[in-house]
Amino acid sequence: MNKKTYTLPDLTYAYNALEPFIDEETMKIHHDKHHQAYVNNLNTAIEKFPDLFEKTAEELIMNLNDVPEDIRIAVRNNAGGHVNHTMFWQIMSPFDVAQGEPKGDSEPKGELAKKITESFGSFGEFQQKFNDAGVKRFGSGWVWLVLNKDGKLDIVSTPNQDNPIMEGQKPILGNDVWEHAYYLKYKNMRADYLKAWWNVVNWQEVNKRFES
Ligand code: MN
Repeated sequence: MNKKTYTLPDLTYAYNALEPFIDEETMKIHHDKHHQAYVNNLNTAIEKFPDLFEKTAEELIMNLNDVPEDIRIAVRNNAGGHVNHTMFWQIMSPFDVAQGEPKGDSEPKGELAKKITESFGSFGEFQQKFNDAGVKRFGSGWVWLVLNKDGKLDIVSTPNQDNPIMEGQKPILGNDVWEHAYYLKYKNMRADYLKAWWNVVNWQEVNKRFES
């Protein structure tokens, strides 16, 4: 039997495609070094209990109590890191520098747009609340738009590499507020990064996640 391993997904765009909002070097280090390390560390942990290779990274973090205590923290951090970053690359898309606008939709459409307005007042207020939650996350973590257990949209933040699916919430989009996501370009100005990030959100992909 071939032993399965977790693998680093390729980016579907160039490392410099999110410039000027996310710089090429940050993308290279973030994807090739940080995400790769989560994948490697996850594989190393699971090698001790190879039956667990049958499970997806999502299944592992949704059922941490089924993971042997010996590797539970490693799985929480590294399967979490793998799930979070896999989504992160997908929900971003290139910015058209010549046109001065995102290549895709710059705002949500349809049912998601309606629900965001109902839940937060307007798209702008939603962005502001999301950014505030990202700024307030102390240390390293993520800020998310989720569907909560009642099927309502909510903004939450998680520490480290925790993911809202660990709490029964469905993440629709999330932004990485670890310093490695922004420090080369934005230094200590996390709020500036959070504001700029909206220029590279892939709303088509976010919409798909909302509808699925
Ligand atoms: Mn990261």
